Amino acid sequence: MNARLILRVAVPVPLYTLLDYLPPEGVSAESLHRGCRVEVPIAGRSRVGVIWEVCEQTSIDTSRLKRAVAILDSNPLLDRLDRELLAWCASYYKHPLGEVVQASLPARLRQGLEQASQKLVAWRLVSREISTDDFRRAPVQLRIVRQLLESETPVTASELQASDKAVRGALRRLAKKQLVEETLIEPESDARSVQSRPALTAEQESAVETLRNSNGFAPMLLDGITGSGKTEVYLAIAETLIQEGRQVLVLVPEIALTPQLQQRFSSGLTGTVSVMHSGLSDSEREQAWSAAEKGRTDLLLGTRSAVFTPIPRLGLIIVDEEHDLSYKQQEGHRYSARDVAVMRAKLAGIPALLGSATPSLESLNNAINGRYGWLKLRERPGSAKPPAMQLIDVRKLPLRRGLSPALIAAVREETDAGNQTILFLNRRGYAPQLTCHECGWIAECRHCDARMTWHRQAARLWCHHCGYQQPKPARCPECGAEESLIFLGQGTERLEETIAEIFPHVPIIRIDRDSTRRKGSLDRSLDRVHSSDAAILVGTQMLAKGHDLPNVTLVGILNADHGLLNPDFRAPERTAQLLVQVSGRAGRADKPGRVLIQTRHPDNPLLQTLIRKGYGAFAREELALRQEAGFPPFSHQVLLRAEGLDAAMVEDFMQQARDFASGEMENVEIHGPLPALVERKAGHYRWHLLLQSVDRSSLHRQLDSLLAWLIDRKQGRKLRWSLDSDPQEVL
Ligand code: ADP
Ligand code: ZN
Ligand code: ZN
Repeated sequence: MNARLILRVAVPVPLYTLLDYLPPEGVSAESLHRGCRVEVPIAGRSRVGVIWEVCEQTSIDTSRLKRAVAILDSNPLLDRLDRELLAWCASYYKHPLGEVVQASLPARLRQGLEQASQKLVAWRLVSREISTDDFRRAPVQLRIVRQLLESETPVTASELQASDKAVRGALRRLAKKQLVEETLIEPESDARSVQSRPALTAEQESAVETLRNSNGFAPMLLDGITGSGKTEVYLAIAETLIQEGRQVLVLVPEIALTPQLQQRFSSGLTGTVSVMHSGLSDSEREQAWSAAEKGRTDLLLGTRSAVFTPIPRLGLIIVDEEHDLSYKQQEGHRYSARDVAVMRAKLAGIPALLGSATPSLESLNNAINGRYGWLKLRERPGSAKPPAMQLIDVRKLPLRRGLSPALIAAVREETDAGNQTILFLNRRGYAPQLTCHECGWIAECRHCDARMTWHRQAARLWCHHCGYQQPKPARCPECGAEESLIFLGQGTERLEETIAEIFPHVPIIRIDRDSTRRKGSLDRSLDRVHSSDAAILVGTQMLAKGHDLPNVTLVGILNADHGLLNPDFRAPERTAQLLVQVSGRAGRADKPGRVLIQTRHPDNPLLQTLIRKGYGAFAREELALRQEAGFPPFSHQVLLRAEGLDAAMVEDFMQQARDFASGEMENVEIHGPLPALVERKAGHYRWHLLLQSVDRSSLHRQLDSLLAWLIDRKQGRKLRWSLDSDPQEVL
């Protein structure tokens, strides 16, 4: 053994450096590979790190170096490209490399355990002589039995969506009745029959052709209206690559909300599909991770963190709904999975396809200036037409708990015709405000600068910022008046109640975070929607996410003004995206749809452009405004956040940071420090300092000195700071 070899290890600790170790006793140089896990001692504990470099020199006196305990892998888990990507993230998002690396591994591998067996858990019927009539009252069991009957071979747990608690429970009950049994199958035997897909439209065909002919790194925006068949484009190009022996990575904002999407991928392709999201158990996640890493999965469909999965034969990355905010991790390693995906495609020299009906202004700008290819789908296949949008000026109208007569009449018309309506209100709970009509007291959170929302079902006042809950006071805490407390404003619970009063005989389904908290309840709600004729769906933006609801002919937006009044410079973009996405739920099949938008600002130029000319025209106007103001994408931002229990201390720290930055950094605009919009959250005072520059690389280069300065301030536990590159929320 070469005694001078040093291992430079990425260890999961909040340090911005690699740590040097001597190789474990008796390990030969041939078994030291970058990208393998290694157990090392640190601060009296043993941690699992990843070998980042094997070198012959160290700046540290070798006699003081500790020895690594054991090498845990004989072959690297992370290859060169994986490591380059993670290193880029650590550097760009200013997060300790060891923590970035650790977060990319499945839980058991993080703990130093061996990779699990590759067999898949699957289910089969004990006997095929089984009557579906026995399950009339157990819809989940019925679905499982049907699925098992349809398949000649055992059906894998992931195909049954066994990560869902309701499905798991149903499987357990079926097993107890000895109707089904669990078995382990080789992943290769996981072949299914492929459902035929529709013939592509000319627009779809041309998008797929462009992708097929692309060479090397090719970022492309698939700019296609809702319902234009973007998913069919994904399937077609993925199939091509799979046939060529490549693997495909597909990122989606949410999987739990879109079981239909998962279904389309697993049944529409000849290859094997794995799914990875936070709703899975650790072992299911690891199975998907390993299947991708070992090259056995042809297509990996996953949420944000799946972007880091090692995929040796990666040939294409698809980011669906690329504008979605959930791609940005808002704590710890604050990466944007969309941007990481593009960087990954660049490192790997492959195409990246970003799809959306409402592209982010960043991506759209890249398409406009030619940095990205621009594939457009402007029509819905077949006879389906995009819905017509119309504003309702509610300023002088008599509203019934937020509902205008015109909207109520429209809902009545559709329900009478046996159609379905979506009523969109981006506020959960019953009422956003509890107030005393005697003295004007308002219920506020004791830990935040925020009002409490009344949740009637939970019978609790609830802070949406910190989660604090309390019962409703029996009398006004301020003036002591009894029976003086009233609810102001509307949340989805109250809207549901109002609608039930107006339409007592129509099924009403509420879809928001509260109504879907229990796993499986969303599926059940959606099943109810699919199986009923007339129905009214009441919900928050959860409703906007990709469900195919063929009977919806009317979308009513109760209050477009929430978004318009938000001071964040991205608020118009987000509002437009939300309005278009929700509207896109209407008129998907043979029924035309319409959209009614209630507002007190009917002359708002954003709304006007959006309604009259559509998202593309709106986006161009908004881009012009951004350019004028020097905002992203025409500049680049990094946000320094700090928070602590002592407001003065936080402010003082941020003033010092400002002084440092303005003394040290060149060609960087410095804004603030300013208190956050909600300054006190969960008892912590929060301040922001915004750094902005037209030159991204110069900004990031200079950031390292600010980072060093920050690391040097020993604030202990009294103050926490973080840097956020390309922040998505700056208030
Ligand atoms: P998007 O992802 O753009 O919202 P989808 O891919 O979900 O659109 O397609 C919307 C609907 O149109 C789906 O029901 C899909 O099956 C159907 N569809 C898509 N492409 C075609 C096509 N070429 N011919 C017929 N139907 C299609
Ligand atoms: Zn009072
Ligand atoms: Zn609170």
